[in-house]
Amino acid sequence: MSSDSLPENDNRPSRTEAEQAVRTLLRWAGDDPTREGLHDTPSRVVRAYEEFFEGYETNPRSLLERTFSEVEGYDEIVLLRDIRFESHCEHHLAPIIGRAHVAYLPRSRVVGISKLARVVDAFARRLQIQERLTAQIANTINDVLEPHGVAVIIESSHECMTTRGVHRPGVSMVTSSMLGVFRTNSDTRRELMAMLNRPSACEY
Ligand SMILES: [Zn+2]
Repeated sequence: MSSDSLPENDNRPSRTEAEQAVRTLLRWAGDDPTREGLHDTPSRVVRAYEEFFEGYETNPRSLLERTFSEVEGYDEIVLLRDIRFESHCEHHLAPIIGRAHVAYLPRSRVVGISKLARVVDAFARRLQIQERLTAQIANTINDVLEPHGVAVIIESSHECMTTRGVHRPGVSMVTSSMLGVFRTNSDTRRELMAMLNRPSACEY
């Protein structure tokens, strides 16, 4: 499966079927879906799912297709830091909340920075494991922009670890994907780490 392929949607259930499934889970939790407070819960949950998982409707590659080449020979690292994202773990449907740092070393073309954040969202708003999320973002930028290198670092907290199972709040998971010069050139990687560790100037 390539990094941007969308799942088959032929068997997508109807909204009514999805709401019925929520009623089943409410009963499974031990409650009564017909009581007043839960009356609109199935439709709210189904709408929330549309928002949580809207990434399936986006082709991340197409977000990067418009590039700018008039960059006056700019050939240094471009880094977008602290991109907050919300995702859901594919094992428990529990939230994963974190921050992504996305860097690339352009080969002649740059992309609007908001597009990097939208690529993060396009993959985050799907059922994920953090390792794959990290690799998909890096591989897509690498494939479409063909830069000298791409680096993606993600730190996040997994609600499936904090609110269930081992119940360990305060644990963060860090993953990274380094491609091209970020993998092969330790000076470039060191420069990236220095940029990441610099205090943020964005108080505004
Ligand atoms: Zn999980």
